Amino acid sequence: MTQRSSSLRFAGLICALAFVLGVVSPVLARAASKLKVVTSTTDLAEFAAQVGGDRVEVESIARGYQDPHFVEAKPSFLLKLRRADLLITVGLQLEIGWLPPLITQCGNRNIQAGAKGYLDTSQFAEILEIPAGIVTRAMGDVHPFGNPHYWLDPENGRRIARGIATKLAEMQPQDSAYFEERFQAFSKRLDEAQKAWDAEMKPFRGRKVVTYHRSWPNLTKRFGLEVVGEIEPRPGIPPGPRHTVEIIQMMKRDNVKVILVEPYFDLKTPNAIARETGAQVVVLLPSVGGEKEATDYFKLFDYDIALLTRAFQATQ
Ligand SMILES: [Zn+2]
Repeated sequence: MTQRSSSLRFAGLICALAFVLGVVSPVLARAASKLKVVTSTTDLAEFAAQVGGDRVEVESIARGYQDPHFVEAKPSFLLKLRRADLLITVGLQLEIGWLPPLITQCGNRNIQAGAKGYLDTSQFAEILEIPAGIVTRAMGDVHPFGNPHYWLDPENGRRIARGIATKLAEMQPQDSAYFEERFQAFSKRLDEAQKAWDAEMKPFRGRKVVTYHRSWPNLTKRFGLEVVGEIEPRPGIPPGPRHTVEIIQMMKRDNVKVILVEPYFDLKTPNAIARETGAQVVVLLPSVGGEKEATDYFKLFDYDIALLTRAFQATQ
């Protein structure tokens, strides 16, 4: 038997097998057509899973309790990216310190910036704090295209989910009705959740807060809170004594009683400021998976709003 006929026979066998599997097991056939989606953060993974349902396989590179500006690159990330059909990123340079080299090194042409399998969701969202002038290093880690922590407004969550649903439908047109239906269900659920969150936060509109990093402009805007200062003297720059004293004076003067801190920052300075000012430190979650209770986008807001309302009540 020649090499060629044996390989032909083998190919025939594979076809027959695929046919049998397709007939007896639609589940297996479905598994073969699942889009492999990799996201930079857990929040984007959550939106992709919400609208993609069982037609996608979603994995996030960063964990929800990690600082998304600084993720340590691991070889396993390259493998994930190599087999991905779609890469979804936050953009606005949030991942600039770690993602671009992974994208170039993974050798997957389809997910390079600008390719069909690359989606930057900042294009769908309302972006705040876009710098008016020229951005220099002296300003700290300022993101020149605006604040990248935009997913922390449910309205932006809806827009991101919408954008992802459209992208999934473009990549897998046979499932477009399914993705649309899933998006509509997500959006409806978000409407209802948002009514409850707005009602819970309503008594605290206008309250002033200090935050560690500028992670919260979209969240505070949505719920009518006012950020009056940051513990970081400039974005990405650790707190120093002079700035800390200024923050303490300002908090005393303006009667600011709540300090919001992301889970990956040292609590030493926030706690010291709280002792001086009688304020409460609230470790608020910026991302899904930041704590084990925050298993999805809805639970993330449930968690954060419960902490916020408790802190505002305690410091009336
Ligand atoms: Zn940031």
